[in-house]
Amino acid sequence: MNTRRSITVLGSTGSIGCSTLDLVERDLDQWRVVALTAHDNVTLLAEQAKNLSAEIAVIGNPEKYAELKDALVGSGIACAAGAEALVEVAKIPTDWVMSAIVGAAGLAPTMAAIERGAIVGLANKECLVCAGDLVMQAVKDHGATLLPVDSEHNAIFQVFDFNRPEGVSKIILTASGGPFRKRSRQSLASVTPQEAVKHPNWSMGAKISIDSATMMNKGLELIEAFHLFPVPEERIDILVHPQSVVHSMVEYADGSVLAQLGSPDMRTPIAYSLAWPARMNAPVKKLNLAEIGTLSFEIPDEIRFPALRMAREALRQGGTAPTILNAANEVAVAAFLNGQIGFLDITNIVEDCLSAVDGSSLAGLDDVFGIDAKTRRTAISAVKALV
Ligand code: NAD
Ligand code: MG
Repeated sequence: MNTRRSITVLGSTGSIGCSTLDLVERDLDQWRVVALTAHDNVTLLAEQAKNLSAEIAVIGNPEKYAELKDALVGSGIACAAGAEALVEVAKIPTDWVMSAIVGAAGLAPTMAAIERGAIVGLANKECLVCAGDLVMQAVKDHGATLLPVDSEHNAIFQVFDFNRPEGVSKIILTASGGPFRKRSRQSLASVTPQEAVKHPNWSMGAKISIDSATMMNKGLELIEAFHLFPVPEERIDILVHPQSVVHSMVEYADGSVLAQLGSPDMRTPIAYSLAWPARMNAPVKKLNLAEIGTLSFEIPDEIRFPALRMAREALRQGGTAPTILNAANEVAVAAFLNGQIGFLDITNIVEDCLSAVDGSSLAGLDDVFGIDAKTRRTAISAVKALV
């Protein structure tokens, strides 16, 4: 009998996707890779699919279909392309799904996995930011299991008493502060994409690295935490902790604070979600607190990093505000990475787009896609005005 657990990795060529496959390929007696997806990188996708004997590989960019087909010829691995195919592949029954597409592009495939009641390791925080209520409702309706992979949320998940949530007084999300933690706001105007993607502690994809530099990442994570855990917004704090060792904390009514610690290596939270509810070996550097010596904490500066304030306001406003925040940020980050706009323009564009919030609500995914598309058009015009 085949007792291997079957898995799907959405976004397998990215930073989280590759870390996931790194864990999986160390123990192929345990895992059976069914489906892998990527957006553009045919070479890596085909190589992963062949190495791991996947059943199907899907490329998001439809123009890359012929190239993928060629790359897989004779392998017996099926292939498909396009946004619809990403949704269809997420529906294939597997025991575990890694949701590691970056951005709102991950929403539809992640929802498809949730709607089949899957166990989902959730790295794609943007889907909770742009459609948190709908995603969490679908999790309930379809009996799916969401296992947070984002290191902070994974930490909270590990120490949160879900049986007695009334005993929780606060969630404390830690933030590294990013590469510009000590820079003046004025000096940030001229930073380059190369400087901004260099995170001091974590190696990550380009978009989340820029989000860490603006601290929008922590703003997105605030909204993510609000949806994942039964704690109101005003009881979710953010604390800068430059060493990225304490991954987040939960404070209880009696004054106890429970934290999860570890080396800053995403393979720990990924391994936690892969093996859940058991534990597995992960090839990560074990935490050596004596070597680290000092752990420090400071209050975040919302003047230098306005993204934190904007995200909290968007969460308080609710409705379309978080969807707009996310879409505007995606466009602005891409424009910054392309050298079209300056670093400080990122949050300026997000703030301008947020002024379009009109109090309407999101009844379904179509509303989310509509607001997302509309905001992207506005944000692109804002970028063009700056170029
Ligand atoms: P990445 O850019 O390295 O990889 C993104 C993956 O998504 C790639 O496989 C890419 O091909 C695919 N992709 C991109 N655009 C797509 C599209 N339009 N359609 C379909 N697929 C698309 O990103 P990452 O750093 O691995 O991050 C992935 C997600 O995990 C993000 O939501 C990020 O916020 C979250 N996350 C990442 C880290 C990290 O350490 N990298 C930590 C916590 C959370
Ligand atoms: Mg994180």
